Amino acid sequence: MSISIKHLNKLFPNGNQALKNVNLEIPSGMFGLLGPNGAGKSTLMRILVNLLEPTSGEVSIFGHDLLKERKTIRSLLGYLPQDFRFFAKYKTYEFLEYAARLSGMNHSGQRKAAVEKMLETVGLYDVRERYANKLSGGMKRRLGIAQALIHNPKVIIVDEPTTGLDPEERIRFRNLLSETSEKNVAIILSTHIVGDISSACNCMALMNKGEVSFFGSPEEMLKRAEGKVWRLQVSDSELQEIDRHYPVVVTIPSGNGWEIQVVADEIRGFDAEVFPANLEHAYVYHMEHNLNQWKNT
Ligand code: ADP
Repeated sequence: MSISIKHLNKLFPNGNQALKNVNLEIPSGMFGLLGPNGAGKSTLMRILVNLLEPTSGEVSIFGHDLLKERKTIRSLLGYLPQDFRFFAKYKTYEFLEYAARLSGMNHSGQRKAAVEKMLETVGLYDVRERYANKLSGGMKRRLGIAQALIHNPKVIIVDEPTTGLDPEERIRFRNLLSETSEKNVAIILSTHIVGDISSACNCMALMNKGEVSFFGSPEEMLKRAEGKVWRLQVSDSELQEIDRHYPVVVTIPSGNGWEIQVVADEIRGFDAEVFPANLEHAYVYHMEHNLNQWKNT
């Protein structure tokens, strides 16, 4: 396992318990951490990059203790935070050079070569002379990932990577991460967007209220929702009635009423047919049920 997390807790001074006994064994490849806002994802990410101390628990990264071997850990990690900012004074290539220097690449020839190669990899070579803060949103994201990758880290931590990106940039960004993950690197992708996980990750965890409520592959999560998604044809008043009792995930105007999809173990009193589940349905199913068998012990 590339990252081993045992009995991790984080209690903030104001009494917020952001992480409750989190246990995770994260393999190489793309790992997705999915959960609603406030689930504890950023807190976990910030602990993993040593920006925040846990209240208790242990983390080891490729066998190195997170808290005791900080320098080694830093050389192993690349981090792309949620709100990445660029200093106005740096051009794109200058910023990458700066990041490379910070991560310990002291040889200027090697550094220059690495920067040029990385600019090509992330598709920013043509804009290398542009000031970093003048790049488009998608380009800034790519420069963000470039600075996280420049020193060839073994683990890359990316917090809410596709927020604010248009669909084309989102796909491009995901592909860039997928290509990187093929080089025996662990990428941890934290997101509240189900689509980020389904198209990219082979392993995932679902977090809710500071706890891990599911760990496994997206396919396994999907399987648990099979036979639990229902399609119904309903009137306005029936829709209101159903909405009071079940999570309605899709509502499409149809005839005089609505065609809807509902996630539930069973639907009573309505004519409903089973609909094929997707990961979005599975996410709703898990959040509703908070399946106890997946809870950490
Ligand atoms: P997510 O990234 O999944 O949206 P966070 O890790 O940001 O979740 O937050 C988890 C919980 O911890 C939330 O209830 C949040 O309000 C709380 N929290 C986060 N940071 C702090 C802090 N510095 N002080 C107090 N509470 C915090």
